[in-house]
Amino acid sequence: MTHTATVASIRQITPDVKQFRLVVPDHEFDFEPGQHTQIHVRNDGEEVVRPYTATNLPGTNQLTLAIKRYPDGTASTYMHERERGDEIEIEELDGNLSLRDADADVAFVSTGTGITPMMAMLKRYVEEGTGEAHFFFGEKDREHLIYRETLDQFEAGHEDVHVHFSLSREDWDGLTGHVQEHLPDALETLDDTHFYVCGVPEMVVETKELLSDEGVPDDRVFSEGWEDDEVVEES
Ligand SMILES: Cc1cc2nc3c(=O)[nH]c(=O)nc-3n(C[C@H](O)[C@H](O)[C@H](O)COP(=O)(O)OP(=O)(O)OC[C@H]3O[C@@H](n4cnc5c(N)ncnc54)[C@H](O)[C@@H]3O)c2cc1C
Repeated sequence: MTHTATVASIRQITPDVKQFRLVVPDHEFDFEPGQHTQIHVRNDGEEVVRPYTATNLPGTNQLTLAIKRYPDGTASTYMHERERGDEIEIEELDGNLSLRDADADVAFVSTGTGITPMMAMLKRYVEEGTGEAHFFFGEKDREHLIYRETLDQFEAGHEDVHVHFSLSREDWDGLTGHVQEHLPDALETLDDTHFYVCGVPEMVVETKELLSDEGVPDDRVFSEGWEDDEVVEES
């Protein structure tokens, strides 16, 4: 079953990412932070369905999505052409990536729009978590850092939240290179930390390999890869 959602607001948050606030009147969304909806788009008479992850918490009639535009992308281009007041078809939320244990220390590791489930899980962790949260986010340069201000505010307002941005194509006074390279140094002890990983497949695979080399058991690593094709694991 789909819902008809109204686009209540749109904000350009980086050069290629827009944030959409969708409202379904007389409805309350019930989901686990980290899960995604499906947007239904009509394209040349065919229905195209694509998953997008809510960055907000459940319990309201709203969903906040951050969607990156791909020049040839069907659903992302459709969404970037929407205006306030437009209606779109969306599904209830679903998916495997969600906060497993709010009492464990956590590390959220993402690149690009892989940040969206991490934002929702961080918000839940800040409400319910009892340990330390390390938030690692990688982008090519400063202007593409999604939700930088929000994350800076989380860090400033919560002594157990530590945010680590890493830029791969710009020199600055912060971390540089691929974000996963900073995991071993930044975490004083990897014991008992839960790792949530989402982004380009190369990053997801490399992060899992790196964690495995550091002795982190697979059952403490939760991941999703969604850019390009399936994540192919090296045997
Ligand atoms: C569980 C899940 C959650 C997701 N959540 C989000 C989210 O919160 N925000 C978000 O922006 N996206 C998210 N995505 C990705 C999203 O579902 C679409 O894959 C993406 O928006 C592209 O869809 P499209 O219809 O615009 O492009 P398509 O019409 O499918 O593709 C057209 C062309 O665009 C290019 N292209 C499309 N997608 C990619 C890509 N991901 N990487 C590189 N090139 C690409 C390719 O050249 C492709 O041939 C999620 C994916 C999954 C699986």
